[in-house]
Amino acid sequence: MKKCLLALIAALLPLTTVAQDWKTLTHYDKAAVKKQLTDRFTNYVTFDTQSSEVSASVPSTPGQLKFAKALSKELKKNGAQNVKISKSGIVTAEIPSNSGKNSPVIGLLAHMDTAAEVSGKDVKPQVHTKYNGGDIVINAEKKLVLNAANAPQLLRARGHDIITASGGTLLGADDKTGVAVIMTFVQFLYDNPAVKHGTIKIAFTPDEEIGTGISHFDIPAFGADYAYTLDGGNLGELTDETFNAKAFTAVFKGNRAVHPGAAQNSPFADNVLMASDFHTLLPRYKRPETTSGRKGFILVESITTQADRTEIKGIIRAFSDVEMNELVADVKQAFNTVKSIHNKGTGFDLKFTDQYKNMKSFLPANVVKMAELAMQQEEITPTINAARGGTDGAQLSAEGLPTPDIFSGQFNLHSELEYADVDVMEASFRTLVRLVTLWNLQEK
Ligand SMILES: [Zn+2]
Repeated sequence: MKKCLLALIAALLPLTTVAQDWKTLTHYDKAAVKKQLTDRFTNYVTFDTQSSEVSASVPSTPGQLKFAKALSKELKKNGAQNVKISKSGIVTAEIPSNSGKNSPVIGLLAHMDTAAEVSGKDVKPQVHTKYNGGDIVINAEKKLVLNAANAPQLLRARGHDIITASGGTLLGADDKTGVAVIMTFVQFLYDNPAVKHGTIKIAFTPDEEIGTGISHFDIPAFGADYAYTLDGGNLGELTDETFNAKAFTAVFKGNRAVHPGAAQNSPFADNVLMASDFHTLLPRYKRPETTSGRKGFILVESITTQADRTEIKGIIRAFSDVEMNELVADVKQAFNTVKSIHNKGTGFDLKFTDQYKNMKSFLPANVVKMAELAMQQEEITPTINAARGGTDGAQLSAEGLPTPDIFSGQFNLHSELEYADVDVMEASFRTLVRLVTLWNLQEK
């Protein structure tokens, strides 16, 4: 029996030792890494870095710059080179290659800002060690409790360390888990020079939540061949797809100069009714609340009327081009129907604009494969995920830097029930170390 087992292990060994066995090289101490992740994360969330959609400055809030300065100081302390903060508040740094090989340059990114839905000021993190499977009380007075009903991933978190806020604020796990994982990885490489890797570039970016931070990102100056964002939830989650995104504007012009009392058999034309008919004609089964998984949707976001003119603004989201074309056709059909019913209307206009593209079409297969392999070698089962939204990586990928997303242990985002799972963060950290050692085996 024992002999059989040994033979089996011997047969599997070549598969598991493709990359350098960094755990042996480093006397890897899981508890020490978890402590570093916890200490960093609980410090980072005390920085108020909410971004603001209404601000005209770049970055949108001063708190993000303050955080950027603290992070650049910490990067320098942990041996990173070329540490810079750009005018738009993007922190970049380099970890030079120590392998003497001409392997691809790998970028790692996380965003510094937090969402605006709940306050991000005076966040008081609480560490709930060794989760026992029951309720986690965030704030008894406010009856804020985490349980399997509002946090189903807790079912997989027994024994893990969970970090929550204390009520009244979000936590900032989105995306300070990613920042803490990357910084712990930087320190790890500094402390363990025996782990061989190619050149690694680091970036901490502002204003992800308002969708503007990455537009200031200088891809050629960053100099990575491939990159990964660390901005996801579940253990093993690997996001290689986003929606395709279009916006549309439909304008209906009427004639409301006629007194409504004398409207019959007059040139009276009601642009408000036209807009309302248009909205009604859009298919109900293709709305956000009636679709999930890989199904796309159409959503009207605003209807505004000024005298004879009503304008509708909306968005269309779909993973495939085929579905996107179908949804565009639905919008056109509703628009044309309104046009034919309301023949007294004085003007009709419908325009579509592209917002972002599904990043899958820009990702070479090896970028995703390498992350999958890294997870498998760390005994993490990869789950390929399609994000029902956009990511910074989608924009970067479209502009020439292929950037899928790797899980970082953040859950219940943008709410008072937000939490971080330190054990999932540790798995994310391990994935990164394995990933750079695997990339080091590749020729550029
Ligand atoms: Zn995020």
